[in-house]
Amino acid sequence: MTQLAKARAGTITPEMEVVADNEQVDVETLREKVAQGRVVIPANVKHEGLEPCGVGEGLLIKVNANIGTSSDRANLEEELTKLEVAIEAGADTVMDLSTGGDIDQCRRKILEASSVAIGTVPIYQAVVESGEERGGLTHLTVDDIFQVIEKQVADGVDFITVHCGLTRAALEQLKRQGRVTDIVSRGGSFLTTWMLHHDRENPLYEYFNRLLSIAKAYDVTLSLGDGLRPGCLADATDRAQIHELMTLGELTKRAWDEDVQVMIEGPGHVPLNQIKANVLLQKQLCHNAPFYVLGPLVTDAAAGHDHVACAIGGAVAGEAGADFLCYVTPTEHLCLPGVEDVREGVIVTKIAAHAADIARGHKLAMDRDRKMSEARKNLDWETQMELAIDPKKARRLREENPPSEGDVCTMCGKYCAIKQVRDYFDKKVAPC
Ligand code: SF4
Repeated sequence: MTQLAKARAGTITPEMEVVADNEQVDVETLREKVAQGRVVIPANVKHEGLEPCGVGEGLLIKVNANIGTSSDRANLEEELTKLEVAIEAGADTVMDLSTGGDIDQCRRKILEASSVAIGTVPIYQAVVESGEERGGLTHLTVDDIFQVIEKQVADGVDFITVHCGLTRAALEQLKRQGRVTDIVSRGGSFLTTWMLHHDRENPLYEYFNRLLSIAKAYDVTLSLGDGLRPGCLADATDRAQIHELMTLGELTKRAWDEDVQVMIEGPGHVPLNQIKANVLLQKQLCHNAPFYVLGPLVTDAAAGHDHVACAIGGAVAGEAGADFLCYVTPTEHLCLPGVEDVREGVIVTKIAAHAADIARGHKLAMDRDRKMSEARKNLDWETQMELAIDPKKARRLREENPPSEGDVCTMCGKYCAIKQVRDYFDKKVAPC
C-alpha cells in the first residue's frame, strides 16, 4: 500500500511519524493532508536508508538539487561528490538527471549513497539508449519508455518526472499561438519530436494507467512535469502552459483514484508580477496537490547569476504557496554545474525557501531568525555560526577576518554599534 492508501485507511506510517517529528507538526493532521493529496512523502519501498521528508501544505518548503552526468561530462565520482555537497548544504531531495556514461550505475550508486529522496526523469535514459542502440529518438518504442521507468523505479527512485500533460491538443495550442522560445524542457522536446514524427499521442498520457500501476507497486511519487513550461518571460502564463496544467489537474485525480501520490511541476521563467497568479492557478486546477517550481527565474538576463534570479522567484512563489523549489546554479543556461556550483545553488535556494517559510508564519523558521537576532545582540558568534544557512562560509569569513580587539567584527571595529549600546545600557558610560 502507498503512503496515500495508508493515510486514507487512517494508518499513521513510520514515514509520517518521522516527517511530523522533524517538522514539529501534529502527526494526525499530517496524515489527513497526505490522505487529501495535499502532502506527499516520496519514499519508494525499495529505497533503503531513506530519511523520509514531506512536501506540501503546512510543511517547510523543500529544496531540490539536480545533479547527473551529461554526454559531454560523465564522471561518476564527481556526481557522488555533488550529492554529498548538496545534502551537506541542505538539499531535501536530489534529482539524478544523468544522460552520459553508465546511467544505470550512476543512479544506483547515487541511491546507495543517498539519505534523501532521489528523483529522475526516465525519458532521458530511454532516449539516450534508443539513440545509442537504434540510431535515434524516433526509433524509441512505447515499451522502451515503460521498461526504463520500471527499471529506475525498481532500483528505488522515490519520485519521477513524467511529462504526461504534454498532449497533441496542448501542442496545437503552442503552434497556433507561437512562442519566443518554443519548448525548453528536455523531456518535453523529446516527447514532442516523437509525437510529431509518429503522429501519435504522448504515450505517458495515452498509457497513464500503465504508469499508475508501476507507481503504485513501488509507491513512487509522480512529479507531473511541465514539458511546455515557459523558457522566457515573454512566453509565461500562455495558453499552451495553462492547457498542459489543466490536463495535469485531470491526471492528478486519476492518480489519486489509484492511491498514487502526485505533485505538479511548474515554471520556469515568469515575471515577478505573474508568480502569484501561477501558484493560484496550479492550486485551483490541480486540487491543492503540492507545487514543485523550477525556479521560477524572474529575468532572462542573469546568465552567470541565474541562481539569484531563481531565488528571488522561489521566495515569491513560496510565499504564494509553492511547496518545493528546484534550485538553479550559477551555470544555468551555460554549462553543466560543478561541485561548487551545486553548493551555491542549494544555499541560495535554501535562503529563498526560508524567507518564504517566515512569510508563511512557520514557527520553526521564525524561531531560527529570532535566535539568530538574539545571538547577534549578545555577540555570540558560535551560536550565529550554528544558525547560519551557510555556516561553512560564515565561519570562513569570520576566521579570515578576525577583529583587532574584543568580540566584535571588522565591519565597525571598536565602533561596534551593538557593543556601544550594550555597554552604555550596562555601565552608563560611552565606550568611545
Ligand atoms: S562590529 Fe558592526 S557589524 Fe560587527 S557585530 Fe558590531 S555592529 Fe555588527
